[in-house]
Amino acid sequence: MKYFSTRGHAARPEFCDILLGGLAPDGGLYLPESFPAVSRAELDAWRHLPYADLAFEILSKFITDIPADDLRDICARTYTANIYRHARTGDDPTRIVPLRWLEPGKLGLLALSNGPTLAFKDMAMQLLGNLFEYVLTKRGETINILGATSGDTGSAAEYAMRGKSHVKVFMLSPHGKMSAFQRAQMYSLADENIFNIAVTGMFDDAQDIVKAVSSDAAFKARHRIGAVNSINWARIAAQVVYYFHGYFAATSSNAQQVAFCVPTGNFGNIFAGHVARCMGLPVARLILATNENDVLGEFFRTGVYRPRKASETHVTSSPSMDISKASNFERFIFDLVDRNPATVAGLWKEVDAGGAFDLSDTPFFTRLPEFGIVSGTSTHADRLATIREVHARHGVMIDPHTADGVKVASRHAADLPDGVPLLVMETAQPAKFADTLREALGRDPEIPADLQGLEALPQRVEVMPPDVDAVKAFIAARA
Ligand SMILES: *Cc1c(COP(=O)(O)O)cnc(C)c1O
Repeated sequence: MKYFSTRGHAARPEFCDILLGGLAPDGGLYLPESFPAVSRAELDAWRHLPYADLAFEILSKFITDIPADDLRDICARTYTANIYRHARTGDDPTRIVPLRWLEPGKLGLLALSNGPTLAFKDMAMQLLGNLFEYVLTKRGETINILGATSGDTGSAAEYAMRGKSHVKVFMLSPHGKMSAFQRAQMYSLADENIFNIAVTGMFDDAQDIVKAVSSDAAFKARHRIGAVNSINWARIAAQVVYYFHGYFAATSSNAQQVAFCVPTGNFGNIFAGHVARCMGLPVARLILATNENDVLGEFFRTGVYRPRKASETHVTSSPSMDISKASNFERFIFDLVDRNPATVAGLWKEVDAGGAFDLSDTPFFTRLPEFGIVSGTSTHADRLATIREVHARHGVMIDPHTADGVKVASRHAADLPDGVPLLVMETAQPAKFADTLREALGRDPEIPADLQGLEALPQRVEVMPPDVDAVKAFIAARA
């Protein structure tokens, strides 16, 4: 399988080449040349596969430059009960991603957040960790991953890369701005290849430093700086797997359809759903759920995509969805505009210059319903009420991001064809967002047994002013 840029660059790299890079040379995002079609016979053969085997079947369609036996081994090591605590403690160790029905056959939660950091990002990041180590070892290369996080991404990346040979992680976070639990998750890691830098500033200051360091081409080349951000195609490919798994878990035959509701930030998770649907998975609807930062909902309603300035972004109780622009959205627009790179390049010329685009008067907007995506949004009050309601009716605690999904799903459930189950992606565990849970329920969420006492562990973090040269010096001394 070859890959190409959404903006039309002539290069056609293979998977292992785009794995370690970020954007395409022309600033576009990589996509596979086609979304491989999955036959009905394949769906039948896959229906009862354990998660790791299903992952191998799907990933081997996108990854053709790693020998099958090696890829199978990587999948087996990634999707194992040792890593996914639910499989460890639940009644069926093969169930990496259990489906929990709230209303049997109708409404369920796809439990994606049972990995090491209690957010669904582990599902993709754990695979990335093993793929990086495999490819770098083969090539005799090393990489220094540089990133900025406001919480979930940084911890998922560190837990995926900890102890891996050939990889070091330099993760910037805003000093004192993450929850105590999130800080403990990152800063308590004792692995020698993990470096936490707390910047005395906001998340945007940390992000700006990463951009400044990454745009210094000489520094980047000398210190082999890489990234694991959400535009990485391998992360999308890994996420396609759980759409198939969720479908099989919710249905009893491949003649049935299913719908998914996805709490959305950078459009990575839901884009993976779009890919699964394009591959032939019987998906009736993808429901895009946003919070007060409704940049994407606005597009699906009006045809106008208007990224906000970072300063216009609302700080909400579902912080992992607090985005000003959606970094993966370009991939979807590429499909919407008939896969025409020149059109995409033209639209993103506006976006990259701080502007917006409007497709409302084009045939593309008229055809948008064919893509099966509808949207909805929630407020803080909606999320609190939903957390209370789900707890009262089903005895289940959900986190504020998942609550956003459940709320938006409830508005769309009636529009689905009869007999189509609706699965809400459970993107994080309530333990990560104790303040909001306390506000909703007047009590603390449960902390998984293996993470109790985490906040009391010694922490290792370098506090620094938001200064590009200081960060560069820190990296240069350790990379
Ligand atoms: C990252 C994240 C999201 C948003 O996912 P995208 O792929 O960026 O759309 C939603 N919820 C949680 C808990 C997250 O960590």
